[in-house]
Amino acid sequence: MTSQITPKPGVDRIALYQGGASSLPGRIDVLKLSSNENPFGVPEAAQKAVAASAAHLHRYPSTDHGDLRAAIAEVHELDADRIICGAGSDEVIEFLCQAYAGEGTEVIYTEHGFSMYKISAFASGAAPVEVPERDRQVDVDAVLAGVTDKTRLVFIANPANPTGTMIPAGEAARLAEALPPHVILVLDGAYAEYVDGYDGGAALVEARDNVVMTRTFSKLYGLGGLRIGWGYGPKAIIDNLNRVRGPFNLSNAQLAAGVAAVRDRDWAETAKVENAKNRAVLARGLADLGVPSDPSEANFILARFADEAEANDCEAALREDGILVRKVPGYGLPQCLRITAGSATDCARVIASVARFRESQA
Ligand SMILES: *Cc1c(COP(=O)(O)O)cnc(C)c1O
Repeated sequence: MTSQITPKPGVDRIALYQGGASSLPGRIDVLKLSSNENPFGVPEAAQKAVAASAAHLHRYPSTDHGDLRAAIAEVHELDADRIICGAGSDEVIEFLCQAYAGEGTEVIYTEHGFSMYKISAFASGAAPVEVPERDRQVDVDAVLAGVTDKTRLVFIANPANPTGTMIPAGEAARLAEALPPHVILVLDGAYAEYVDGYDGGAALVEARDNVVMTRTFSKLYGLGGLRIGWGYGPKAIIDNLNRVRGPFNLSNAQLAAGVAAVRDRDWAETAKVENAKNRAVLARGLADLGVPSDPSEANFILARFADEAEANDCEAALREDGILVRKVPGYGLPQCLRITAGSATDCARVIASVARFRESQA
């Protein structure tokens, strides 16, 4: 008997998410560089805030996230009324698809774009539409060529994951200007804090009524395990996202940690400076070993090998040395490995391991 219990269209087309590996059997010195986590851990202020929140867990959390929105608004110089908070920015991406996409509509993302866009589009019932990139860079003209009457959302991560590349602010502005009036441009700024002088798209949000920016505490702020993200957009759009948001989507612990982390400006500055330094060392070290990467603006590099076989062999060699990196065939990049820029020591360990791999090939 065939089951009559079926999900709505699209749901069964979502590939189950494969996270970055985090352990190796029998090894205690595992270096996890597969999920773009902060090598310096969790800001102490956030740890204290989580501990303090434990005594209040019998209370439901704030439903309007007022304190967290105020803290974000203060630090980033934004309007608190146009901020929405989610369980990670992944949840804000979901809100966008739930509120604006659905059956009969299309959601655009680019060739090597972040996997959540496709997943959330399918979950909403919309058709995900992938448009080409040019040499692992978002191509604004290709995005525009993909727009139809059915398009509702265009997702672009800037800097992008897993490529680490970025389009200039002028290109994002050109895209926002050229989109037809029924389309929202979403600029995913998960790695925006790592880029000197970049506002993640905030100024473009301020200037227009068709742009939304998403941000996260999971990368630079070292809180991926807690799940805190946020979005910034025109008031009318944010109101609609709040309509589909669960009233208690963030716990007391998440809200308190977010406030503490965003106020810790020293942490943010140190993490940014250390990342830029270590990422440059990692990229140069691998390039010297014949493993190039595109200039990355994020906290990882996309190491490029001769072919898929060599990338897989190097991944296995790194794993033998206790180092976990990310294979990215699902992103159309089977010849590449995404490697998080860890601490200076971490990067040195990666370079030494790839050097041994090279010697073993000779
Ligand atoms: C890591 C990442 C996110 C953030 O996910 P969270 O749900 O906030 O942890 C969003 N977009 C991109 C492109 C990312 O790489």
